[in-house]
Amino acid sequence: MQHWPTLPDGRIDARSLTRPQLAEILGELDGRPDRARRIFQWIWQHNISAFSEMTNIASRTRRKLDAALGIQPLLSAGVLDSTDGTRKYLWRLSDGKTIESVLIPDLNRRTSDGRNAPDRLTLCVSSQVGCAMKCSFCLTGDMGLLRNLTPAEITSQILQVQRSLPDGMRLTNIVMMGMGEPLHNYDQLTTALRIMMDGLGLNLSHRRITVSTVGLIPAMKKLADELPVNLAISLNATTEEQRRTVMPLTKRYSLAQLMETCATLPLPTGKRIAFEYVMMAGFNASMADAERLVALMTPLVGRAKVNLIPYNENPDRDIRRPDDLRVLDFQQHLINHSIHCSIRTTRGRDISAACGQLGKGAAPLTSSVPPRWVPPTSTVGLTT
Ligand code: SAH
Repeated sequence: MQHWPTLPDGRIDARSLTRPQLAEILGELDGRPDRARRIFQWIWQHNISAFSEMTNIASRTRRKLDAALGIQPLLSAGVLDSTDGTRKYLWRLSDGKTIESVLIPDLNRRTSDGRNAPDRLTLCVSSQVGCAMKCSFCLTGDMGLLRNLTPAEITSQILQVQRSLPDGMRLTNIVMMGMGEPLHNYDQLTTALRIMMDGLGLNLSHRRITVSTVGLIPAMKKLADELPVNLAISLNATTEEQRRTVMPLTKRYSLAQLMETCATLPLPTGKRIAFEYVMMAGFNASMADAERLVALMTPLVGRAKVNLIPYNENPDRDIRRPDDLRVLDFQQHLINHSIHCSIRTTRGRDISAACGQLGKGAAPLTSSVPPRWVPPTSTVGLTT
């Protein structure tokens, strides 16, 4: 048998398999790869924890499956609820390490001309325990990289948060912006993405999935060739030197190479690359920075948008966010030069769930199932 991902008990990890991989295993087990559709759907769309629970499959097959494959949910190590409706989920992995996911509701939305827009429920998902990229402003980087997450550990965050939502509510968007650098865990990430996009799996549209990266160029190119998901790039600086001071990976993949790659990357029609720009007072928030950002973005017009993220201050860093007026001026400058530019509203800061704050401590184990999430009753801050 091929080397399949396994659980600590030695069985194949069923939640780490794409549908074609499951078919291959079923073919080897009892010559029935055609059962993959039904069994895959049981794994992802019916809440089973063992194959014996599948009612429309012969009991001999169920026993064989349970002997060879296991389904292992993440253990809930608690939740933290923000006053703005954001919820941080803490998960304990089978080796005792912990990771986090953040649910970001954006309810009662309105379009710019005042009409109702569909609610958005975004989940920010982790791809690694810790991170190796060591961006100087990001707290997750302080942990270093402890290990990669398996496809099951990535997708189970989505599955289990979905199950904690009130009936009738569904996650609408997935952003790979939690702990870790997703493209540094490429193979396991892409397996997880295939499960997410499978109609019999997590059934999420590629239009609603975003992978964020510090700019690992070869992996960016590979991803763009293989899967039609949205790409976000953490830019955070406008010159080679400035970027090198906060993002060490720039020594390996220069800003110039990054911008050149973005100009030629194959993009499905209508898709734009999102450039995330964390604004730090006295570092990258001057109007000269805005001008340089315009110069970087102008060649990409029609294929790029900028997302300004005012820095989330924290006791571990002596970094300040610029004042609101500066952020607005900066945005206006980009808009005046025909560059799409939004400002990311800070969410969940009171529970350390905002960008760059993940990985700071975990609550004690409470239960294996997170409690139901309750939507906030008042209208929460609209995302600009
Ligand atoms: N490693 C990937 C995925 C993490 S996304 C990446 O860097 O893109 C997390 C985002 O939060 C990144 O854009 C990062 O630049 C940003 N970030 C990190 N610390 C922050 C902070 N304190 N305030 C605001 N944004 C922060």
